[in-house]
Amino acid sequence: MFSRVLIANRGEIALRIIRACQELGIETVAVYSEADKEASYVQVADEAICIGPASPAKSYLNIPAIISAAEIADVDAIHPGYGFLAENAHFAEVCTDCGITFVGPDASSMRLLGDKVAARDLARKARVPCVPGSDGEIRDEAEAIKLANKIGYPVIVKAAAGGGGRGMRVAHNDISLHKGFSAARMEAEAAFKNGTVYLEKFIVEPRHVEVQLLADKSGNAVHFYERDCTIQRRHQKLIEESPCPVLDEKTREELCKAGLRLIKEAKYHNAATVEFLLDKDKNFYFIEVNTRIQVEHPVTEMVTGHDLIKLQLKVAAGQTLDLRQRDIVHKGCAMECRINAEDPARGYAPCPGRIEKFVVPGGFGVRVETHIYQGAMVSPYYDSMIGKLIVHQPTREETIATMKRALREFRIEPIKTTIPAHLKILSHNLFVKNKVDTSFIERHLS
Ligand code: ADP
Repeated sequence: MFSRVLIANRGEIALRIIRACQELGIETVAVYSEADKEASYVQVADEAICIGPASPAKSYLNIPAIISAAEIADVDAIHPGYGFLAENAHFAEVCTDCGITFVGPDASSMRLLGDKVAARDLARKARVPCVPGSDGEIRDEAEAIKLANKIGYPVIVKAAAGGGGRGMRVAHNDISLHKGFSAARMEAEAAFKNGTVYLEKFIVEPRHVEVQLLADKSGNAVHFYERDCTIQRRHQKLIEESPCPVLDEKTREELCKAGLRLIKEAKYHNAATVEFLLDKDKNFYFIEVNTRIQVEHPVTEMVTGHDLIKLQLKVAAGQTLDLRQRDIVHKGCAMECRINAEDPARGYAPCPGRIEKFVVPGGFGVRVETHIYQGAMVSPYYDSMIGKLIVHQPTREETIATMKRALREFRIEPIKTTIPAHLKILSHNLFVKNKVDTSFIERHLS
């Protein structure tokens, strides 16, 4: 096992990883920007190194600064968390070249799966159902229009390098496809410096369901069942839960096995999430693979009882998985609400500022993951997520009741948060009755 690990991240995930390391007897090195000098994760790490000014490009995305810190602190591994450099294959390569283990997959599988066009090809090879669409890149409008007429509208143009919901355009006819094609390509070029786009049939009113997986370096892989992340705003998840409340056992097993086939085909190691869309007839289609730990991983931890961060560290250190598939048992229902410093009443506008009052809920079945404390500053430079409230109970009905109670107990002042929006969603008839799709927020709560 590693003796010292650097965490190339900030906020709640940095704290989450430090805690896992401490329990494994691993020393931790935090890195921070000038804006995060007083952050809680900086205080609890064994060592902390400032890597630059507040701007992410100059600190948390600054590869030379992070590698220098790792060398000065003499660590044997770097955990990238999620976001920032977590899916940057070049960074993984630099770590390896410097003799530091990257806690994640090899740069080559990250590159392969990070390209959505290549990942679709691989999925087809692994007999995983894909959304009907182009075989590869679409080069111009004429090709897009020809294919759209073959598979039928609506269609969606997507960026091969896409992420965070950027570089996507839905089209309902030739005219909107003509416009959407160049818009998607320009957005992709600006956001990812890669204008490659492809085309998919737009699945109408789908649910988003994903499978959590973990593989070691000896080729053993297991799944930890699925999470349902249908409640999204602008393709950003707000609530995640497990199990997916509309899946029957047979489809669920097929879905989890499909995820396993895909990461085995990719000769993948470490944690991965294979994402699918589920249509109204319960057909599932592969959309993408995330080659990192995800924000919503605690949902899976609660229903399976396995610490995914510790498992990531163990397999990265070369340990073989001592878990067989039958050891992973799914129990009860878990749900996560993302608490963002945003004002739902003003179009979810970011609300940075000093937190004067912070009272965290507790009680049976309640888990809070946050780096915030009374007096902490929410910086305008970073993601607005300030915490995650996770609830685990035997049934979905009980989970919703506990979540509502815990949300009401949560006091965050004076800034605005997504708590009122969560309370509205959890009380909405369609959510309670499992009749939602990915457009629920835009259609019913905007
Ligand atoms: P990103 O990597 O930017 O998050 P994804 O491919 O994971 O992009 O898609 C994000 C979300 O966009 C999905 O959860 C879903 O809501 C929507 N989406 C993507 N592809 C389709 C599709 N073919 N049909 C309908 N919705 C889609």
